[in-house]
Amino acid sequence: PDLYVRIVERRNDGIVVRGAKLHITAASLIHELVVMPTKGMRQDETDYAVSFSIPVNAKGVKVINRSFAASELNAFDYPASAHHSMPEGFVVFDDVFVPWERVFLAGEVPLATVFAQSLGLWERTGGVVEAVKMSEIFVGLAQLVTEQQGKERDPVAQNTISELIAYAETLRMSLDYACRHFQTTPSGMVHPNILAINVAKYHYAANFHAAVRGLHDLGGGLVLTLPLEADLRSGTTGDLLRKYLHTKPDVDVETRMRVYNLIRDLTADAYGGWQQVVALQAGGGLNAQRIMMHRAYDMATARERALIAAGARPATTH
Ligand SMILES: Cc1cc2nc3c(=O)[nH]c(=O)nc-3n(C[C@H](O)[C@H](O)[C@H](O)COP(=O)(O)OP(=O)(O)OC[C@H]3O[C@@H](n4cnc5c(N)ncnc54)[C@H](O)[C@@H]3O)c2cc1C
Repeated sequence: PDLYVRIVERRNDGIVVRGAKLHITAASLIHELVVMPTKGMRQDETDYAVSFSIPVNAKGVKVINRSFAASELNAFDYPASAHHSMPEGFVVFDDVFVPWERVFLAGEVPLATVFAQSLGLWERTGGVVEAVKMSEIFVGLAQLVTEQQGKERDPVAQNTISELIAYAETLRMSLDYACRHFQTTPSGMVHPNILAINVAKYHYAANFHAAVRGLHDLGGGLVLTLPLEADLRSGTTGDLLRKYLHTKPDVDVETRMRVYNLIRDLTADAYGGWQQVVALQAGGGLNAQRIMMHRAYDMATARERALIAAGARPATTH
């Protein structure tokens, strides 16, 4: 109870909040922190049903930072991490005063769920959008690394690439479905289809590591052991690399190295290590989607159809 963000004092001009918020991407880079509950609250948890917006440099806000990649990584060896290194903030509200005009929620327990579910929905939508882009790149990398090895006609390689295509296309289609079958709130706001986004995020997270396995299987050990750009650019080692990494007349060694570097960096190194966990946890772990799928699914219709199919109910004609 002394850990989660909550109201510790109510004043005429605002509230005082205390507690920690994990894990807040880019907290130290932004101007305002928008804080909200990440779960529904019970009736006895009124102080925890709190939401507000506060400048990141307000008195009492503390951000303990870390990043998955050092800023000096070069773009040849780290084509993803060099451009996409996000600080992660361990944010502490150490008795922070928030004036009323910045408070969205202060004890309205039933609304905590609405905030938590809305955050989950949009976070999952953003995650799926990124997953659609990344899974297409996985297919492209799988094809390139296979062609560069001269294995493009090999049925085992083709099967693995087809599995990556199935992963990528199921993701793309479910995002497309979620947007086309959008839903509208009573106040007229539209949002992606809740069931479809949760199914899409679940598919992304539950199968991401298998997709990475396929890419690693095609790439081989060179995914991890490829020498660095500095070795390619220096005389003796560069000549050796150009000789021994050469596969076919139309395969440029530098391009081959760039393909391997992107596979490693996206799946097995700085950004890739971050992504292995982000795929699972960002927007809530697998169980958060299981709960939402169960809640949003049209169970009454499925039950009814099962009863009719089992002969326990007469079929209705429409
Ligand atoms: C890199 C990164 C960046 C993030 N950025 C942000 C951000 O910017 N803003 C933000 O608000 N959040 C952010 N998150 C938080 C993310 O939403 C949470 O990590 C996620 O919801 C899981 O919560 P947790 O980390 O507290 O794990 P816990 O709640 O401690 O859960 C640990 C594991 O237990 C499982 N679990 C928990 N409860 C149950 C249950 N009842 N039944 C079965 N299993 C359960 C979870 O699924 C999870 O796998 C980020 C997370 C990561 C890893």
